[in-house]
Amino acid sequence: MKHPIFLLGISLLLAACHNDATMISEQHIQSAITTVLQAHPTADSAMLARGAKQVAALWRESDGTEMDYQTLIASSYAATDAEKEQLYNRMAFILEQCNQSADMLNNTLQEPTILLGKGEPTQIDWIISGYSPMAHFAEDMFANKIAHICVLNFPHYSLEEKNTLGKDWTRQEWAYARLGDVFSSRVPGHVVANYSQALSEAENYIAGYNIMMHCLRNEQGEQLWQEPMALLSHWNLRDELKSNYAEAKGEGLEARSREKQEMIYQVMLRIIRQEIPDCVVNSDQYLWAPYSNTATPINEEIQNSKFLTQNSNSRYQQIINIFHAAQQIDAYRSDAPTHVLRTFNEDLQIPFEEIESLFTQLVQSDEVKQVAAIIRERLGRDLRPYDIWYDRFKSRSSISEDVLTAETQKRYPNAKAFEKDMPRMLMDLGFASDKANAIASHIVVEAARGSGHARPCVGREQPARLRTRVSNKGMDYKGYNIAVHEFGHNVEEVISLYDIDYYTLAGIPNTGFTEASAFLFQERDLQLLHHSTQSQPDADQLFDLIWGMYEIMGVSLVDMRMWQWLYANPKATAADLREAVIRIANEVWNQYYAPVLGEKDSPLLAIYSHMIGYALYLPAYPIGNLVQYQLEEHLAQCETAQEWAQEYTRIYQQGCLTPDAWMRGAVGSPMSVEPILNAVREALR
Ligand SMILES: [Zn+2]
Repeated sequence: MKHPIFLLGISLLLAACHNDATMISEQHIQSAITTVLQAHPTADSAMLARGAKQVAALWRESDGTEMDYQTLIASSYAATDAEKEQLYNRMAFILEQCNQSADMLNNTLQEPTILLGKGEPTQIDWIISGYSPMAHFAEDMFANKIAHICVLNFPHYSLEEKNTLGKDWTRQEWAYARLGDVFSSRVPGHVVANYSQALSEAENYIAGYNIMMHCLRNEQGEQLWQEPMALLSHWNLRDELKSNYAEAKGEGLEARSREKQEMIYQVMLRIIRQEIPDCVVNSDQYLWAPYSNTATPINEEIQNSKFLTQNSNSRYQQIINIFHAAQQIDAYRSDAPTHVLRTFNEDLQIPFEEIESLFTQLVQSDEVKQVAAIIRERLGRDLRPYDIWYDRFKSRSSISEDVLTAETQKRYPNAKAFEKDMPRMLMDLGFASDKANAIASHIVVEAARGSGHARPCVGREQPARLRTRVSNKGMDYKGYNIAVHEFGHNVEEVISLYDIDYYTLAGIPNTGFTEASAFLFQERDLQLLHHSTQSQPDADQLFDLIWGMYEIMGVSLVDMRMWQWLYANPKATAADLREAVIRIANEVWNQYYAPVLGEKDSPLLAIYSHMIGYALYLPAYPIGNLVQYQLEEHLAQCETAQEWAQEYTRIYQQGCLTPDAWMRGAVGSPMSVEPILNAVREALR
């Protein structure tokens, strides 16, 4: 996982042409352009007109009169290449310094709520964790006119223009165009801050949503999990469910594994439907029987306490809060007036319909049905809804998780041990030792309270941060697996910032492209523990990949349709939303999953915590999977690990182009589901 909130500061990426600012007349715009052309007859008149018009569209009464506008245009246009380059360099410097200083402050303030070992967070810590030092940045830059000067000289280009004109752009022209994305809208700082606050509150809500497995009881009153085990919803619940596919040895163990999976499934349904008693969340003071849904206090004194409530719908209230905060932004974005449009056209930079079409193409493919038949055969039973998490295609399921955990705990007793091992891991992947050490020197590893995440570096004076779960016994296999995933994010983040030629080109086209890197690394987690050196994907790995895509694309479709529903029902309450999510999840299930897995009306696809706290982030994952596969296929042509690492580096040094331009530069073709479907079809023969 990677948190989108951290990117807010740098990427207020946006289209221009604001309708609500009409105070500069066409006559004044033309007059300003004429004045500049008289002083600089060789100036690029088309570029000047584009900039002058965009400044006019963003002009507010508080910026001054029409004469002030004309004066600004005449006095601030960089008419020569040298002047423009100098202005770009200063702007890039300002952006990097501001982004990085704010991010470093933000990081320090958030430490108590995010990291272990910083003491128990206080009320003040939770409040300040939602504070965003960059929230008012754009507002301030408009107030001092730096934003206007930037827009005049580095105007905005639409996604379509970037994809067509960009084919002939130099790196410098791309860098200038990306600078044109920074100030192309004016959303007041308090509105941006409200939105960050809503995301942060939802994130905190999720971070405290642990289910105590040792407190669960079946209908016979039996305890299935003997050791104390707190699992964070939904990540750890899902991973525990997956781990029970591993070969069970001994009498009755297989049945017990199955019973555990069924119980986790039941817990998930209770969470989605919000039937879970509040008192069992994040607490080991109650025994909970999820089938009959009864909670019994361990200590009789707390019986009848106020904690015995349920159906609070708090899960859905978080989404409603984020939606309302997003609507406040909508009011200032007449060019992209919904969170859905901004997510797809600006953040992901691939239209909604295009993504929906890619996903539905895969989830209803024959290849998926045939892979399901293989799973049915291997399990020797009819499929259950939770078999969307079948993971015996992975070689890791053949090694018991206990064995792996013993190894990772020994190797990584704490976060620092993982950090020290990073250069070795990079060298195993093919990076030269100086490069491996350089990359690793920019990454700090820390023990997190919640699930793992990668916090990117946004300036070249700060490290990328890898956060994962490490208990006092050391890093268990689940924590290690997540850590390797986050490591893949961090390596991309370091290369696409420290190795980049222009600061405004730092990064990747959208979060899916950093997920692709994270998956490339995560796939190699056992190789990095020296359990396998295989580099070519075999049939099982392909089946695993497509089965994973099948799952996450369904989850994404539910997220996408939920947001469409919110905009169609803006007055919805949390209870309305709960009903809608269950209905949408059932519909997606019945259309694409029931025919493959059986059982109608399972809302299981709505379990992802991302739906609650990350505001339409989920589609980035399957995009990441698709990019990952196309990269895998391309990188598989490398004959040595060294070549692999060099090509990986070349690809991520492209930086923040559009997805289309990046993919063509990386593998020579656009994003598509065909490569994975073809490969699976081949493997099925
Ligand atoms: Zn990730």
